[in-house]
Amino acid sequence: MISDNKAKKLDEISVAFGFRNMQTCAQIIAVLGKESLKPSDLTSWMEKKITDIKSVLTEKNIEITKQLREIKFHSRKCPDCGENLNITPVNSSKRDQVGEGYRSAWQCVDMINCGYEEYSTKIVEEEISNHSAELAQLYKRARNANKRR
Ligand SMILES: [Zn+2]
Repeated sequence: MISDNKAKKLDEISVAFGFRNMQTCAQIIAVLGKESLKPSDLTSWMEKKITDIKSVLTEKNIEITKQLREIKFHSRKCPDCGENLNITPVNSSKRDQVGEGYRSAWQCVDMINCGYEEYSTKIVEEEISNHSAELAQLYKRARNANKRR
């Protein structure tokens, strides 16, 4: 038999989790006991699983970022010298102020010999979408992956 005091506490917990979950919990505790496992083993297992999932997400994110950089880097060639163009946001922070309402800039990777620059009033994502549908999609995925972190 359960004391009134304990029953009252479990009633309160049951309100928070719902009776079905309490039932599942009781079943899990019974199975743990049969397998000689303690509730603290369950907690440790849970923590390990969450850490594993997080590291998989991080790996995925790194992979997407790598792919993104790769495609971004090869999406346009410099009209002056034929080298790759790189795109960066401008007027987005204190460090990249160029004024005039520009939002992004294509820059030739050969800054010393060529130095080609092309400013755009479109943001990086929009500029990229205009040059590569594949890149635009990847960029979106990378942004979403970043948000999940
Ligand atoms: Zn160039």
